[in-house]
Amino acid sequence: MEPLYLFNTLSRKKEKFKPLKDKIVTMYNCGPTVYERPHIGNLRAYIFADTLRRTLEYNSYKVKQIINITDVGHLTSDADTGEDKIEKTARKKRKTAWEISHYFEKLFKEDIKKLNIKNPFKFPRATQHIKEIIELIKILEKKGYTYKISDGIYFDTSKFKNYGELAGLKKKKFIAGARVEINPEKINPTDFALWKFSPKDIKRQMEWKSPWGIGFPGWHIECSAMSMKYLGKTIDIHTGGIDHINIHHTNEIAQSEAATGKKFVNYWLHVNFLKVEGEKMSKSLGNIVTLEDIEKKGFQPLAFKYLVLTSHYRSEMNFTWQAMESAQKAYNLILETISSFNLSINLYKSLSINRQLSILHSSASREILNIINDDLDTPRLIAKLWEVLRLNENLKFKKIFVLKADKILGLGFKEFLVKQKLPAKIKNKVLLREKLRKEGKWQEADKIREKILKAGYKIEDTKQGPIIKKVVIKKLIK
Ligand code: AMP
Ligand code: ZN
Repeated sequence: MEPLYLFNTLSRKKEKFKPLKDKIVTMYNCGPTVYERPHIGNLRAYIFADTLRRTLEYNSYKVKQIINITDVGHLTSDADTGEDKIEKTARKKRKTAWEISHYFEKLFKEDIKKLNIKNPFKFPRATQHIKEIIELIKILEKKGYTYKISDGIYFDTSKFKNYGELAGLKKKKFIAGARVEINPEKINPTDFALWKFSPKDIKRQMEWKSPWGIGFPGWHIECSAMSMKYLGKTIDIHTGGIDHINIHHTNEIAQSEAATGKKFVNYWLHVNFLKVEGEKMSKSLGNIVTLEDIEKKGFQPLAFKYLVLTSHYRSEMNFTWQAMESAQKAYNLILETISSFNLSINLYKSLSINRQLSILHSSASREILNIINDDLDTPRLIAKLWEVLRLNENLKFKKIFVLKADKILGLGFKEFLVKQKLPAKIKNKVLLREKLRKEGKWQEADKIREKILKAGYKIEDTKQGPIIKKVVIKKLIK
């Protein structure tokens, strides 16, 4: 088997993947903060996590995967100041924090379903793990890593030897590079909150008792607690966007390793940003795009996924509506081409070189593994897919390749194919047309071809005989 190589942010290198256990991989994907509908940048992060999971499965691993739901503690500023994003939205929309988080969690799940992203083992909510979070903070307190200031319990980063290793910066430089700190009570600028006290002036909706006072957990400790609970002290893979490297994941490592004395994660994988028309998505620029916007313009979620997969996950991706339109056209064309596999089934014998199926299977698998095991090279896999569709003359091989590639891409090819059956009426027309052509009755044959086209199928005459394709049109609303 081709070995799997993944780019590990810890070493800044592609490393040969070796899980802790022989055949099971533990993977934690930092989940969404459910205070608004995910934008397409967030969705890119989960498309990436899904491709990674599918690749691991293609390599015969079982994957125990967690995507958490951040429903408390993520503040508007990464420096542990500002408001809780969920409480803020709740106040603005005059809803409870629970209503807000449940509503946006539901939308997130709907979006990822539309993108054919497989469900993880669990979607744990931070608010349902307060007990575990408090236990973890107690361990850190006992080991002397914490201190109390007026707004909460903090982690003393100077006590953790390798602090900042993931960020790839030397400690002094890292601290100097940290954003200007507003809280003068902190010992080091990089120290972060484990437990925050409820403010005195505003009544929080989400708050819990703790040994230190009423309050709520810090964002970073939630992920450590949930990762440890479901996957163990040391796990194989942890993912997120590149924006998480310097603070969120750096802090997760510090607190987890300080608490357990063990390595927290073996492979850290980060997905690069998706920008819109060359700009970072932001409310002030008014350029936030959601899957709903994409659908409203008449595009399919899976065509968006196709577009995402044409960029490598470590490259910055620039979303433009023009690129979206081209992606939809390309996606339609793939569907049209593969529809012929089932619709022309009676012609298979003449179209397939008579080779053993098992040979076709292993050769397709080998080609796919060669590409995808090089740090999830989806752009190359898609290029290869086109090459096979265009140049390979063996319909059987094409079908095998498409179905195997779809195990990784998850673009709905399999589901589309099973639906393609040639209605008896059309089949009879195709046969009649063939007969007429053989008799030299070209005009009559052409008329039948027109009728077939009106019914939504097109015929392409090849050297080996006619190939039938379903006409796939996705109307675009401008
Ligand atoms: P959040 O809901 O803000 O916690 O983010 C959910 C995930 O989306 C995290 O892994 C982020 O790193 C990732 N993310 C946020 N913005 C983008 C973007 N523009 N492109 C790619 N990933 C992003
Ligand atoms: Zn996280």
